[in-house]
Amino acid sequence: MSEKVRVRFAPSPTGGLHLGGVRTVLFNYLFAKQNGGDFILRIEDTDQTRFVPGAEEYIIECLKWCGLNPDEGTEAGGAYGPYRQSERKEIYRKYAEQLVADGKAYYAFDTPEELEEKRAEIPNFQYGHTHRMQLKNSLTLPAEEVKRLLDAGERYVIRINMPSEETIRFDDLIRGEVSFDTTLVDDKVLLKADGMPTYHLAVVVDDYLMKITHAFRGEEWLPSAPVHLLLWRYLGWEEQMPQWAHLPLILKPDGNGKLSKRDGARLGFPVYAMTWTDPATGDVTPGFREIGFLPEAFNNLLAMLGWNDGTDQEIFGIDELIEKFSLERVSKSGAKFDFEKAKWFNAEWIKRLPAERLKPEILTILQKEGIEVSDEDRLLQVIDLVKDRCTLLTDFVAQASYFFRAPQEYDLGAVTPKWNEQKEEFFKSFADSIGSAQNFAAADLEAEFKTLAQEKGFKIGDVMLPFRIMLVGGKFGPTVFDIAVLLGKDETISRINKALQAFK
Ligand code: GLU
Repeated sequence: MSEKVRVRFAPSPTGGLHLGGVRTVLFNYLFAKQNGGDFILRIEDTDQTRFVPGAEEYIIECLKWCGLNPDEGTEAGGAYGPYRQSERKEIYRKYAEQLVADGKAYYAFDTPEELEEKRAEIPNFQYGHTHRMQLKNSLTLPAEEVKRLLDAGERYVIRINMPSEETIRFDDLIRGEVSFDTTLVDDKVLLKADGMPTYHLAVVVDDYLMKITHAFRGEEWLPSAPVHLLLWRYLGWEEQMPQWAHLPLILKPDGNGKLSKRDGARLGFPVYAMTWTDPATGDVTPGFREIGFLPEAFNNLLAMLGWNDGTDQEIFGIDELIEKFSLERVSKSGAKFDFEKAKWFNAEWIKRLPAERLKPEILTILQKEGIEVSDEDRLLQVIDLVKDRCTLLTDFVAQASYFFRAPQEYDLGAVTPKWNEQKEEFFKSFADSIGSAQNFAAADLEAEFKTLAQEKGFKIGDVMLPFRIMLVGGKFGPTVFDIAVLLGKDETISRINKALQAFK
């Protein structure tokens, strides 16, 4: 590739970011980095009726969380700004006017009410080649009348003049040749009555002005492609048109249709990258981040939704993805989303990442639960000890909190039915022996525990479970002697004594 690769993610800030949106970011990012190119974030906010406060900030934070940071964009700046389309409003009009002057677009003066009437009158009404000549536009009105209307400041939009019976083709980097019959496409609005461009005009003008070389977006945009292709041609820019890649849909777990926010709610898993609170309704849609996913796992699982490297390998870090990603290996068909598999990725990443890396997230989660962590080095040891038992970062609350505060409650049902004075005696002696021991290492502790159990005639299992419940509160956690060592001598003795009161 001779020219510098430039790709863009161009979201409309209308709400939370669906995992499919983040996968689009990821594939853009991987491709850019693999080719030494630039990744651009452009905010497509020209539809004022769909503007949602906070959505842009959310998108930016989401990219930060995933570590997929743009080289250029609303925050990063760059030579092709502004990167927010509403701030580029003045740029688009001249291209729309140029298209009118070239006969490729026209002014349409029909009021929304008039169009409503047409829709009611004509089944499957489309503003296009079948009906445009019966409507109120610069193709049907005399030139003087058009001028008069424009001079009088009448409300109008500019629409593309879609040719009929033409086949438009392009080579999609994922799907190969794609073709469209223009007869089926209506005359899309390019410039709206408020002077704002529609998405169709803005996306083409900006991809051109921002020198975008490759445009990756979701498959749902494929039907818009003929409009965009014609605009590139009509504006005389066909040579510079980016190469397109339409990414496969992410499907519901059963494969029946696109995964939606509603499926998430119905099936009990997140569909958004981060929790989104709708500012209008206050409705909260949960996110992967908040339920305890790591960005490393999230990127990894998104990469595998529609891509693989041709082997059985499933765990990929971002650097390896940059190295191995290829559009040739992106599948044409939709990828089913499997939440259990998503959690598997997370558990794998929790296992693989060093405690130091996990610490910030876990610290925040524990603090949110009101758990004081005064010694962060000790937290690192705790993380190492329990991380193999955690699927979500939020599992650390249950798995780690007892290291920082003594159990408030005990699973008494697991202890008291078989509790007796002999056992109480055993633990009293054990606490004494811990108190006088020179070493407080797991192996010594275990040896002492076993010797004592034997002396008192207990099977090891009879006393092991109560010991665990004394320290942890419940029937879970890593090896109990490791727990005791991390708790320290004094705390272990104190927990034994406290529990002996509760077990009576
Ligand atoms: N603004 C469109 C969106 O919201 C972008 C589609 C494209 O990348 O062309 O997804």
